[in-house]
Amino acid sequence: MSPDNRILIAGAGPVGMISGYYLANKGIPVTVFDSLPQTTTDHRASTVHPSTLEMLSELGMTDEMTEKGLISAVFQYRDRYDDRIVAEFDYGIISDETNFPYALQVEQHKVINVAREHAERLPDFSLKRPYEVVGLEQDDDGVALSVKNPDGEIETYSGRYLIAADGGRSVIRKALDIEFPGFTWGERFVIATTKFDFGSPEAGNHRYRNYVAHPDQWCALIKVAGDDMTGLWRILLPASGDESDEYVKSIDWVQDKFAECLPYAPPYEVIHRNLYNVHQRVAETFHVGRAVLAGDSAHVNNPLGGMGMNGGIHDGLNIAEKLVRIWRGEGDDSLLAQYDRQRRTMAKKYVQAQSIQNKEILQESDMDARRKKLDALGAIAEDREACHEYLLKSSLIAMVREANSVQ
Ligand SMILES: Cc1cc2nc3c(=O)[nH]c(=O)nc-3n(C[C@H](O)[C@H](O)[C@H](O)COP(=O)(O)OP(=O)(O)OC[C@H]3O[C@@H](n4cnc5c(N)ncnc54)[C@H](O)[C@@H]3O)c2cc1C
Repeated sequence: MSPDNRILIAGAGPVGMISGYYLANKGIPVTVFDSLPQTTTDHRASTVHPSTLEMLSELGMTDEMTEKGLISAVFQYRDRYDDRIVAEFDYGIISDETNFPYALQVEQHKVINVAREHAERLPDFSLKRPYEVVGLEQDDDGVALSVKNPDGEIETYSGRYLIAADGGRSVIRKALDIEFPGFTWGERFVIATTKFDFGSPEAGNHRYRNYVAHPDQWCALIKVAGDDMTGLWRILLPASGDESDEYVKSIDWVQDKFAECLPYAPPYEVIHRNLYNVHQRVAETFHVGRAVLAGDSAHVNNPLGGMGMNGGIHDGLNIAEKLVRIWRGEGDDSLLAQYDRQRRTMAKKYVQAQSIQNKEILQESDMDARRKKLDALGAIAEDREACHEYLLKSSLIAMVREANSVQ
């Protein structure tokens, strides 16, 4: 094959869009394909951690993201059973380690749009949508993507490398025959959004990010600014029973659950709700030949701790930086294997381990075990050194540092 001198990216979610922007910003021609006509505004990621803010500040994105979001300097774990605050973590403790001693609560679609607006100003960036990637071929010189255009015709695009950022159901991962081992949680997760202010004194003075433990009524309460910047609260709840998806998505189910989990002043005005199956999976390899997986195509996890998009952006920028070196003749394809060693190992060690642990703490039903787990969390928050270490891990700063040290 004599491929076009460009890099192809499947998927214009946060990972594909930001990687594409990075590459075009370095003068590398890049084409990004997305099957949808525009970015969806469904309620997914909202927490951007310090480690990611550091990376995005180098791309000049953080000022605009901050204007559209909320600075969240602390987060809490609560025990709904005893109605107490178990632990409060203050990012100020890691201000010796980062210029961003806070998480930014900013919706996923806003992050994507900030990256797109920057990227579209660059001559080397091209975004094609709605163009659905349907297949991939490759040889030693390049990749050829089969793409369905808006008229339903199949076109072929070639390039030197492909970043597959096409999400958890990745067509590319399947085309490359890469296994996706792991498991799916028994319960589904509901995310429901209300304007009711859980930060008010009558509603428990919640912080912008709160994880509330209870054997069957655990939940996460997250505040975002909303498109009109007047504030919205997203509540993440488990649907553990065998009720139909249709019933779980109904307003009656959501109101009943809100009344059980958040007994402040129900019924609440619920303005959006959605239902997800939740998986913990990591692909068996992050690259085959000249195609690499990044983001949800490479790993998926439960949203407790807000790590999926963050880890995905770290993947995307890690591989994009390596592709720049290869492009400039400063490295060869062995960097793709290094990407796999750095990112796949860390996805398991940090994102999988911590997101699973977060869920296990919230849902523990053995009374002795839950007391021990919650007390241990409280003890970490009280001990400055332990808290420093905990925040470096939960903000994924430790993961990025360890990944970068892997040869
Ligand atoms: C309720 C919820 C809350 C979450 N909260 C957080 C959080 O606070 N912090 C966090 O870090 N993560 C969070 N996550 C996870 C986060 O949303 C994902 O990890 C993130 O979206 C992954 O980004 P991505 O770009 O890899 O994939 P996606 O966002 O899934 O984007 C994939 C893109 O590829 C496109 N695509 C798919 N197939 C094709 C194809 N065949 N051809 C062309 N285009 C294609 C899609 O249209 C899409 O635009 C949350 C997830 C959920 C469900």
